[in-house]
Amino acid sequence: MSNDDLFRQLKFRDPARARALAEALRHNMDAIGREVSVMHVCGSHEQAIARFGLRAVLPPGLELIMGPGCPVCVTDGPEVDEAVALAMQGVRVCTYGDMLRLPGTARSLADAQADGGKVEVVYSISQAVELAQAHPEEQVVFLASGFETTAVATAAVALASPPPNFSILSVHKYVPAAMEIVAASKETHIEGYVAAGHAAIITGWAIFEPFAARTGAPVVVAGFEPLDILAALVKLTELIREGRPEVANVYPRCVTKEGNLPAQRSLWRAFRTVTGRWRGIADVPGGNLELVPELAALDARKRFRIDTAGVRDAAAEEEAKGCICGRIMLGLATPEHCALFGTTCVPESPVGACMVSSEGQCRIWHTYGGVPDLRKVG
Ligand code: SF4
Ligand code: SF4
Repeated sequence: MSNDDLFRQLKFRDPARARALAEALRHNMDAIGREVSVMHVCGSHEQAIARFGLRAVLPPGLELIMGPGCPVCVTDGPEVDEAVALAMQGVRVCTYGDMLRLPGTARSLADAQADGGKVEVVYSISQAVELAQAHPEEQVVFLASGFETTAVATAAVALASPPPNFSILSVHKYVPAAMEIVAASKETHIEGYVAAGHAAIITGWAIFEPFAARTGAPVVVAGFEPLDILAALVKLTELIREGRPEVANVYPRCVTKEGNLPAQRSLWRAFRTVTGRWRGIADVPGGNLELVPELAALDARKRFRIDTAGVRDAAAEEEAKGCICGRIMLGLATPEHCALFGTTCVPESPVGACMVSSEGQCRIWHTYGGVPDLRKVG
């Protein structure tokens, strides 16, 4: 059976198929005959890899590294400071639960809440809109985090004339821009990328073609079942072996070449890309999503004078405390390289962003026993 037949016939947790894919992977690595590092850029991929112990079946010489794959982790401290400042000046700030404990330069939104700031955890932006409708006398700001996938939901609300006391503080990030940063880094030697299936449902897989052509690194779009990820690695090593910097899609049950065109239209009617800082990484050209000027009335940064002077403490940023989140997100280190991992830094009292979110690599590794790369145990 050819590899393409295997990809088409995926039954998601079938051990025989997993063995066949692991064998195909070994075969590709034997043919390549040297060490290869590849990167995936999605927290949900890392969760599946850690949960199913997938690194244990990778052939020697194949490094599977997690890149900047968690939208919470890459939200920068000064962006949190803006939300904290708004909450402390009497605005009701609504956001997703995993943003609550994300450190700002000095304080998190949870700290602001404890200090009397108005902070509300919501499950969706629609719930924040409902709060604004229920409290017309208050200003309600939704701290909008996440990659292009969640930005689509924000765009839909922004374009649907929300109530006048509602606005958006966008810290949305755009993944393809961060892949450019990783590829441009002189320290990383990533030869191929596994791209997030969720995001590609919206953007389509063709969006990665210019990147693959420019960087010479193939990209494979994958789903989130263990066999999806193994299939992606087989395809990726096949493309590396053959020196073909192309884009492949092993998630055809959900992802098409052009993606969800109506969702893309609303995304780009509501947002434009601007340069923005990703925590611990760099200023990423085109890496942030900002509301377009036509929606300025909805933009919390335009509506309010956000004064972060009282809540900001640049000297206290977590890098100064030994956190190596930035290196982890660039694929230059793993959590076990951090002296604070599992000791000073645990999910109950995270030092850095990677331990906060369920999609952060430190948090995932901690949840699954500390060293989910079972090849390194014993
Ligand atoms: S938002 Fe979706 S695509 Fe992005 S890292 Fe999280 S799970 Fe992956
Ligand atoms: S273990 Fe904690 S301090 Fe270390 S890199 Fe991860 S989040 Fe940062």
